[in-house]
Amino acid sequence: MTQNQAILNELSRLYPDAGPELDFTNPFETLIATMLAAQCTDRQVNKVTPKLFASYPDAASMAALTSDELHPWIRSCGFRSKAVNITATCRILVENHGGKVPDTLEALTALPGVGRKTANVVLANAFGIPAFAVDTHVFRVSNRLGLVRAKDVKQAELQLMDAVPREDWIVAHHWMILHGRRVCDARRPACDRCTLAALCAYRSGVIGGIVDDEPQPDNGHSR
Ligand code: SF4
Repeated sequence: MTQNQAILNELSRLYPDAGPELDFTNPFETLIATMLAAQCTDRQVNKVTPKLFASYPDAASMAALTSDELHPWIRSCGFRSKAVNITATCRILVENHGGKVPDTLEALTALPGVGRKTANVVLANAFGIPAFAVDTHVFRVSNRLGLVRAKDVKQAELQLMDAVPREDWIVAHHWMILHGRRVCDARRPACDRCTLAALCAYRSGVIGGIVDDEPQPDNGHSR
């Protein structure tokens, strides 16, 4: 068994129920919830979206709002710019995509406020299309484990697509988020109780100096 496969097997064993922590029921909700999750916790987004989606269930209804009208609904998820981007995105969905969320990286990243990470989350979670969304946890954990040697999220994404079998891309993203949240903390990784320690490049001293490194921010940031 390769080192990479041993790492993936252990992550799979640790997090058998890994999956999205955001609540959504269709591609439109996936896109909006993921946009709201930038610089905000999934838990906070999940508090906001039930009422929001009950009142504005699709792109057409949300596109009819001004950003000033939308902002009070999402205020607890952060900046006014999110309301600007979401209303602009909804108008483009209506005008260019028949009110539907597109299912290609190119079309998704053309939407205001939608970066590569958000687009990959939508492809994976809304459409089941294999994609590797690299957030701060995935970037840090994959570098420390030695699955990648990447300086930015795009590099990490491309290297992870080589290092991880295609059928595991979606779930491996969730494994690394959970490991980053629960064990491999940015500032204080709990190496002493980490069952991946024997396989970890950072722990074994093969690599060093990346404990506090963070990738260049995308529009999304998973907490
Ligand atoms: S051994 Fe330490 S650095 Fe490596 S994955 Fe575990 S917690 Fe992170």
